[in-house]
Amino acid sequence: MTARVLVVDDIIPNLKLLEARLTAEYFDVVTATSGQEALEICERGECDLVLLDVMMPGMDGFEVCRRLKSNPETLHLPVVMVTALDQTADRVRGLEAGADDFLTKPIDEIALIARVRSLARLKLVMDELRNRAETSANLGVSNAVSHALDDGPGGRILLVEDRPHSAQRILAALRGRYQIDIEAEAHQALFTAAERDYELVIVSLGLADFDGLRICSQLRSLDRTRHTPILTLADLEDRERVLRGLDLGVNDYLTRPIDANELLARVRAQVRRKRYADALRFNVKTAMELAVIDPLTGLNNRRYLETHLLGLMEQAAHNGRPLSVMMLDIDFFKKVNDAHGHDAGDEVLKTFAARVKRRVRGADLMCRLGGEEFVVVMPDTRLEIAQRIGERIRGAVAASPFPIDNGARAIPITVSIGVASSMGGESADAFLRRADQALYLSKNAGRNRVTAAAA
Ligand code: GH3
Ligand code: MG
Ligand code: MG
Repeated sequence: MTARVLVVDDIIPNLKLLEARLTAEYFDVVTATSGQEALEICERGECDLVLLDVMMPGMDGFEVCRRLKSNPETLHLPVVMVTALDQTADRVRGLEAGADDFLTKPIDEIALIARVRSLARLKLVMDELRNRAETSANLGVSNAVSHALDDGPGGRILLVEDRPHSAQRILAALRGRYQIDIEAEAHQALFTAAERDYELVIVSLGLADFDGLRICSQLRSLDRTRHTPILTLADLEDRERVLRGLDLGVNDYLTRPIDANELLARVRAQVRRKRYADALRFNVKTAMELAVIDPLTGLNNRRYLETHLLGLMEQAAHNGRPLSVMMLDIDFFKKVNDAHGHDAGDEVLKTFAARVKRRVRGADLMCRLGGEEFVVVMPDTRLEIAQRIGERIRGAVAASPFPIDNGARAIPITVSIGVASSMGGESADAFLRRADQALYLSKNAGRNRVTAAAA
């Protein structure tokens, strides 16, 4: 993994020092000597992560950070503030400006590398998600993620801490903004974390008989909690373990004594980032669902059928149970469009889909192949049964006219059907073709009828 790190500092020797250290760790380094220059580099998308000096003439680091975080083009870039002032007030100011992390000069080399590495890793994941979400937005199947970073109140946090005094202090700092569950029993922590949708898990590294890092690594390997941010609480002498935690995928840490404001700021930063990632993931998931659904009828589409039919056939062969398919094609549908318009045609398609769907089982798979052609796949169904179901559907379609013009009028519709049955041992295409040939016979024989393919 090579990430491009932008180092921003108005003092050249500082720049050179950081550049040398990062280059030694195989990061690509870009430098800027002013806030303005930094903003331009970020906007051009020329870096993955920003190390930002706080004290600079002109625009200071806080302002640069605020601007980066309020610009949709750059708000996803992780920002690490670098300051000479080891003062909590400044950290909080930085985190409130949206900074993802903080380093104090003189910079501790191990902390620098660990932080940069963990933020660069996070950035890669976010980029991947953003890409996919953007692709789906371009396809018009999902809404672009709101650019506002949501860190409003609400949400639930799990605190794994067995010291009642410390737990109470943390509770006091976060109460009012989040709901906090305290787990004092380290052995239970993983289960508790998996039980609910936590926006953050805070793990003490000072648990009496248990290594908090083990909880962190378990949280990372469990599907349910893989994306839940983790913050560790450490003592000064826990330095090595803090770094190991970051390598394991811990997102942030706090050193005791814990400052209430810094805690709140860091928690808010983690929650904000999680909500952003969740929104992206949700978009990707919705897009993937939409990609296999026909928007007009809500049925699965041809793509879905193509990916699932063979599996159903193999399952049928494996269980020794017959699988049937029914191919349906509305009769003279072109005339509906020609006589009543395309919108009326669409109304008919919707009603048709609903009418048929109501007459098949939940286990059956109904898809719109395209146009006025539909398929119903029926597991565990013999040919004769399929034919009978087809007959029932044909009758139901012909029995009453289809409303058009929002119900102002109704027109008669009929459907031609072909059914075929398989025990596996043929390709999905060949199977569908047999049903299609049976359908063709129905059409040729005068339409509004059901034909079963010879086995
Ligand atoms: P046949 O009885 O032989 O099946 O005749 P047909 O007119 O139903 O078949 P044909 O394949 O000639 O025409 C299908 C028509 O379906 C042509 C096309 O304009 C129309 N169509 C396809 N997709 C849609 C759609 O999404 N909405 C509407 N309203 N019409 C569609
Ligand atoms: Mg037709
Ligand atoms: Mg057709």
